[in-house]
Amino acid sequence: MDTKENLLDMTLEEMQEFLAGLGQERYRAKQIFQWIHKGIKDIDEMTNVSKALRDELKKVSYIGKLQIEQKFVSKIDGTKKYLFSLKDENIIESVLMEYKHGLTACISSQIGCKMGCKFCASSGVGFIRNLSSGEILDQIISMQNDAGKRIGNIVIMGIGEPLDNYDNILKFLKLVNHKEGLNIGLRHISLSTCGLVPKIIELSKENLPITLSISLHAPNDAVREKLMPINRTFSIDKIIEACKIYTEVTKRRITFEYAMIRGVNDSKENALELASKIKGMLCHVNLIPINQIHDVDFKKSGNVEIDKFMGILERYGIETTVRRELGSDISAACGQLRRGLMERTNADKTTSKNEG
Ligand code: SAH
Repeated sequence: MDTKENLLDMTLEEMQEFLAGLGQERYRAKQIFQWIHKGIKDIDEMTNVSKALRDELKKVSYIGKLQIEQKFVSKIDGTKKYLFSLKDENIIESVLMEYKHGLTACISSQIGCKMGCKFCASSGVGFIRNLSSGEILDQIISMQNDAGKRIGNIVIMGIGEPLDNYDNILKFLKLVNHKEGLNIGLRHISLSTCGLVPKIIELSKENLPITLSISLHAPNDAVREKLMPINRTFSIDKIIEACKIYTEVTKRRITFEYAMIRGVNDSKENALELASKIKGMLCHVNLIPINQIHDVDFKKSGNVEIDKFMGILERYGIETTVRRELGSDISAACGQLRRGLMERTNADKTTSKNEG
């Protein structure tokens, strides 16, 4: 078995220990850390590190292994979807979006997902494994290098449930925020969860200035249970209680994500019920016309319903936005990731009409 270590999985302190274990000077760790976070792929590119140390490093370690397998570029808005292969040949997806204020990366936290949300294309294909902190980071480094431009914002909203991979996500946040590395501010990072209550409480104690997004999608348990099996474990009331604790401890505003599904969760009564549960909270609601995935019968709500829903929330003083859909021609939108991945298994890898 290959026991080499991924240098991207190491914090600076761990790298110092690693070097000490090789009988090397600890201060070299900073140089190595800077190189790999800059995105070099080969240890020999570390020009200020001696040949002897590079040879030693090559025997016991490697730098990431994310390879771009395919890249799709939206003709509508330039959004890029990447399929990356990992060292063990699993495939993950990440998306790069261009906004007025710069590049935002949407990254995956796991290979597959255990949560089984009914409207999400990541469901139904099972869970394979957690991504390591270095594999999560490598998505950012690889997309940034490919784009040739700095990534300023990150949303952990790709495939997987980040709070189900808690330790690696926290380590990733530390790595990506490191001043010797990419130095991306935690305020520019959003983490989206389906609502794992104990982990929300645990996260509040870390007191990080990230934005927590909760995939709520329903105003009550009856509706939410039809959409999200996790609701049988953590009810809406429990989630809202955890969110209140989170906002009180961190003083950070929470975002509630609400996918608008015609005739399922988009009525006036649904809006009133939601408003009554979250009014007065330090929060913001993001309404997302659901992205239709083809073997599920959920349809997008109409604009009239969305406007009415928004109007009701706003009447209760709840700030509400409607999310713009990006990359719709390349299935880069929420819940559509992974789908392409499954279809890819049978597809011709080298051709794509959207390839940029
Ligand atoms: N597991 C995490 C993060 C991944 S999903 C979570 O549940 O939040 C990222 C977001 O996309 C979530 O808000 C999820 O509910 C939403 N989503 C999934 N499928 C969707 C679809 N078909 N249309 C709109 N949003 C979707």
